Amino acid sequence: MSGVTLENVIKRYGETQVIHGVDLTIEDGEFCVFVGPSGCGKSTLLRMVAGLEETSAGTIRIGSRDVTRMDPAERGVAMVFQTYALYPHMTVEENMGFGLKMTGHPKDEIRTKVTEASRILKLDDYLKRKPAALSGGQRQRVAIGRAIVRGPEVFLFDEPLSNLDAELRVEMRVEIARLHKEIGATMIYVTHDQVEAMTLADKIVVLRGGNIEQVGAPLDLYRDPDNRFVAGFIGSPSMNFLDAVVTGGAVEVPALGRHVEVAASLPAEGTALTIGLRPEHLELRPGDTMSVELTEALGGVSYAYLNAGTGERLIVEERGDERSSAGDRVGLSFEASRAYLFERESGLRIR
Ligand code: ADP
Repeated sequence: MSGVTLENVIKRYGETQVIHGVDLTIEDGEFCVFVGPSGCGKSTLLRMVAGLEETSAGTIRIGSRDVTRMDPAERGVAMVFQTYALYPHMTVEENMGFGLKMTGHPKDEIRTKVTEASRILKLDDYLKRKPAALSGGQRQRVAIGRAIVRGPEVFLFDEPLSNLDAELRVEMRVEIARLHKEIGATMIYVTHDQVEAMTLADKIVVLRGGNIEQVGAPLDLYRDPDNRFVAGFIGSPSMNFLDAVVTGGAVEVPALGRHVEVAASLPAEGTALTIGLRPEHLELRPGDTMSVELTEALGGVSYAYLNAGTGERLIVEERGDERSSAGDRVGLSFEASRAYLFERESGLRIR
């Protein structure tokens, strides 16, 4: 097994550059998730590791091997796609073993590997079925099984759960986490779903516009984002952002109608900032600075959608039995240590 290293990796389609020099180290056995909004380049980057897209410049290594110009089959990777791409006329068993059969592996070896993969994926009872007689989740398991039997150094997943309904997604997410624990291989997983990223990853790579915004362990990104983009992307519901300005050596937040003492190196008096507050770190209290426009009761938690007098909107997570209702006038309280500051223009974090 092996880690994966990208050095100044660039992708161009004709004149258009879509990946702008990515440097990244994925350790052996690590579960690495590429996450970001649609079009940020995560699939392209994954397909470059797979060898399905040519790398315009830079180097891709798997273990100590430079695979940049190698064919996909030589790289020691196996990819699982969003569309399962199973052969409809073959049984589960035949689908899983087909790749090995084509590369001339002996029948006994194929049977052993298929049996082992179907044990891991709990597909033993379905080996003689054809894909049409399987649920979406089972089909995706077969696609994963096909990758396992190849014994790759690196597993590549391209939005593998996107075609499943919400309940199955959660179930398969747990399955994939279990699979990683059991086989311990290096895995790279692409998703636009930050919950999948948070729950599966050892290491999250947040991409935007073909650049890496930040790399880190899930909770490190949540607690210590480098910029407004990462702060807003990681966490659900998203962090609230309000205009702020440096006045009298403190941070004045017009929407809150007060100053906040944030422990950060503040820039010059009058500098425009953005203050970031997570919904789960805010508490409603009696007051008259904001109005509740709407509440969503999810059972365990409720979300109150507030309108500040400034026209800015924010979300507050409420727990416990006392919950707000639409039309209430409220104030907000929070610990100043929970507030994040960003430069208004660049979005860079001020620490
Ligand atoms: P993501 O997976 O993050 O949604 P992609 O990796 O699919 O994003 O795409 C990254 C960018 O590359 C997008 O702006 C997309 O329009 C562009 N792109 C992808 N494939 C091609 C192509 N064959 N030709 C030109 N541009 C492409």
